[in-house]
Amino acid sequence: MSDFTAADRWIADRRGELTDLLFELIAAPTENPPGRERRAADRLAGFFDRHGIPWETFEAEPDRTNLVACVGAGRRALLLPAHLDVVPAGEGWDTPPWQPVLRDGRVYGRGAKDNKGPAAACALAAACAHRCFRLKGRLLVAGVADEERGSALGLEYLLREKKLQADFAVVPDTSGNMKKIFIAEKGLVFVEIVSHGRQAHGSRPELGCNAIWNLVELLSRIRAAAIPHVPHPLLTPPSHNLGMISGGSAPNLVPARAAAVMDFRILPGHTPEDLLDWLRGLVRAAEREHPGARFELHPQALQAPIEIPEEHDLVRVIGDAAAEVVGQRPTLHGSAGSTVAKQLLAHGIIAVGFNAGDEGMDHMANESVDLQELLDYARIVVRIAVRLLGRE
Ligand SMILES: [Zn+2]
Repeated sequence: MSDFTAADRWIADRRGELTDLLFELIAAPTENPPGRERRAADRLAGFFDRHGIPWETFEAEPDRTNLVACVGAGRRALLLPAHLDVVPAGEGWDTPPWQPVLRDGRVYGRGAKDNKGPAAACALAAACAHRCFRLKGRLLVAGVADEERGSALGLEYLLREKKLQADFAVVPDTSGNMKKIFIAEKGLVFVEIVSHGRQAHGSRPELGCNAIWNLVELLSRIRAAAIPHVPHPLLTPPSHNLGMISGGSAPNLVPARAAAVMDFRILPGHTPEDLLDWLRGLVRAAEREHPGARFELHPQALQAPIEIPEEHDLVRVIGDAAAEVVGQRPTLHGSAGSTVAKQLLAHGIIAVGFNAGDEGMDHMANESVDLQELLDYARIVVRIAVRLLGRE
């Protein structure tokens, strides 16, 4: 009999309880904006109360509730941050998005997969760990606010205000049916490029300096140049997107100002500052070639790329646990997007993404999640906690 036979049975017996909790969470609408995560946090609190697990709540603004439950005691801590806010329902639903439905073993409703199903599974895992083991460290299950809008009132707030401290985190907000571990993320640089010229009458363009043409020239240079990078085995090459452009006020006026905003995604080995240096070089070359042209760069968002070594304990422990439960060792992946793993790592918490749920399900109509997958996810989380933190 494995160490986890009793725990697995305990979880399997609570399929109904997991379903009830997920139904309650979906039926507590937490569309962000306005969020109002308190309604979902109350349901989670009720669950933890029934299992005798202590919890605390923190709010940066009224009703934007973050709940943190804690199982075990000790210095080391493993964090599972699931978010309680959801995106708007949108169109095209076959069932009412805020009234959960169970059909063929799947729960349908907004947030079923992103992220209330995993939140419920993490809560069940914590209850199981509380009941079946004495952890030598702390397992923290957090239901956080505001993830869909950048986490300023959620995880970012908890970390900045030191409401939450941990050594490791498994972010249950990716996809891949527990067959993928996300250990790398591209970095992100949003930068506004402002072009300054000289105004003149449209009939005498030679008297002015056209800020829009200058900007077009610079953007063409950026488009033609290769972003410096070291190829990464898990990530596609760096990319850029020209997302916004503005300038000018009339056809018969030589514009004195134009601006564009670009989104660059960069790979480990380069920092956002490296990218800005590279852009500055292109700006200087464009200014040399077009006397009178002048550009400014205004960074709007800077996030460094992240990467956890694949031989890290956390990655190995997740891989072992998933292989036992799902029967297949997860493969390692990188992501072009961003999760809260970046914010966690910036606060010294080693974080990777690992989750139940199908790819392409987030933010779609008819969002759903497989209940058996959630139960298996809970079994995996218990194993990760016990092996990473140890037991008495
Ligand atoms: Zn999510």
